[in-house]
Amino acid sequence: MPELPEVETTLRGIKPFVLHQKICSVVVRHYGLRWPIPHDLQAMLTGQTIQSATRRGKYLLFMTAHGTLIIHLGMSGSMRVLTTATPPNKHDHVDLVFANHVCLRYTDPRRFGAFLWTTENPNSHPLLAHLGPEPLEKILTGKYLWEQAQQRKVPIKSFIMDSKIVVGVGNIYANEALFVAGIHPKKSAGKISLIQFNALAKAIKKILQAAIKQGGTTLKDFVGSNGKKGYFKVHLQAYGRGNLPCLVCQNPLKEIRLGQRSTVYCSRCQKS
Ligand SMILES: [Zn+2]
Repeated sequence: MPELPEVETTLRGIKPFVLHQKICSVVVRHYGLRWPIPHDLQAMLTGQTIQSATRRGKYLLFMTAHGTLIIHLGMSGSMRVLTTATPPNKHDHVDLVFANHVCLRYTDPRRFGAFLWTTENPNSHPLLAHLGPEPLEKILTGKYLWEQAQQRKVPIKSFIMDSKIVVGVGNIYANEALFVAGIHPKKSAGKISLIQFNALAKAIKKILQAAIKQGGTTLKDFVGSNGKKGYFKVHLQAYGRGNLPCLVCQNPLKEIRLGQRSTVYCSRCQKS
């Protein structure tokens, strides 16, 4: 599933080709994404110029003078910059064709993504209105997390994966950040000290920044490629290493299910 670093890398890859460019046509080959693509999307977008291209959580926002296109990559979505001469494949559901002859093509085999349109402030859209702060911005601090966690009994791993608390901390990154911060994933959020939350906020930023930096090496893949992109190969210390020796103390890592997600931790290094 594309996580925040992949979405950020997608934005950085496509933005130079679409910003300040005029959309001359919109091709929708399949309207049935997670929510149906609005049938008037062509009418709304044709002739519009992209005034800004930004990200909020895992949503891409393309703003025009008349409204904002909200895109989510879902489970398997990707976007590439092609020319209109490139014939579409089976899962290429949407093309935005620009006056500079760029074709921004959306591919999504599992069709769990979204293409939505709003004329309101996109941050007030029901999908975005309740999102917590961006993890890489200054607002995400240990103190903020500590304040949000007061009286909360939810396991810390579920807490940091809750997009109402902070956006963009997917399962892999939650595992890694808790390992780095030395916090047991099942520990109640409300029982974690400010010092531990400071370490956790720092670890979240570090692991996401490393993944985005890694993604930077794949930017060229957004132009003219066949679009086979996997996870960024960040060096993972916990996730995917169940029963392997802890890289700090050599104790075998434990693997459990927590909130239906694979959770790997070291029972010595991560205190409950
Ligand atoms: Zn250990």
